[in-house]
Amino acid sequence: MKLEFVEDGELRASFILRNASAAFANSVRRAMKSLVPTMAVDYVDIYLNTSCLYDEVLAHRIGLIPLITKLDKFNMPEECSCGGEGCPNCQVSLRLNVEGPKLVYSGDFVSDDPETVPVYGNIPVVKLYKGQQLMIEAVARLGTGKEHAKYQPVSVCAYKIIPNIQVSSECSGCEECVKACPRSVLEFKDGEVKVKDVLACSMCMECVNVCSEGTIKVEETNDYLFTVESIGSMPVKNIIQKALEILIDKAKGMNETLAVLGEES
Ligand SMILES: [Zn+2]
Repeated sequence: MKLEFVEDGELRASFILRNASAAFANSVRRAMKSLVPTMAVDYVDIYLNTSCLYDEVLAHRIGLIPLITKLDKFNMPEECSCGGEGCPNCQVSLRLNVEGPKLVYSGDFVSDDPETVPVYGNIPVVKLYKGQQLMIEAVARLGTGKEHAKYQPVSVCAYKIIPNIQVSSECSGCEECVKACPRSVLEFKDGEVKVKDVLACSMCMECVNVCSEGTIKVEETNDYLFTVESIGSMPVKNIIQKALEILIDKAKGMNETLAVLGEES
């Protein structure tokens, strides 16, 4: 198996996973989406809310604000030495104390930890009119997307199969396939049909359908093109790396369990 980066940005990356099974490719996708932890507000103490939103709606909106996550800094609550009760090693408080008239933004929260703050300060939370007030303490902790979508570190996490497109030597060069392709994958160059951009192919099979000679073939391979976009809580490369580490740990755990079962039987 091999991993090659096509696009390597801070928040968006594209990479090719070569020679892997469909099950493994899907495991990588699911690990990124559901198993890599991020910080999000998990409960809120609302001391005062005279805004137009109910406490529950307000709490839900606050929970969905993406927070910068330093994974090495915090423990998962269930693994923390406090036993999940809450301590500086597993949770952070963000306070909001505002009075209208004002449009309250995510950036108005004051965090106890300067490194755990909203990714974007310009997310609107609620509009306060004159005299309306909010006094809130929101508590953030680590969690995974498996538990709630607010903990998902990715907004885009998908893959597609990279096909193997072959044009045989009997091709007369009628260019019907080149014209039919909606994604400009093929081109007619030096008297023959060539593959210009295989990564753009969505395997719609239009080229195969219009070819009256049957000289073009599109086949599935064991290579996958992944596109991953971070919500900003951590760089996209950290998400990919963490997901792979989690998969390795899971495989090790599985091996240990099987070894124990083998000894017992
Ligand atoms: Zn703790």
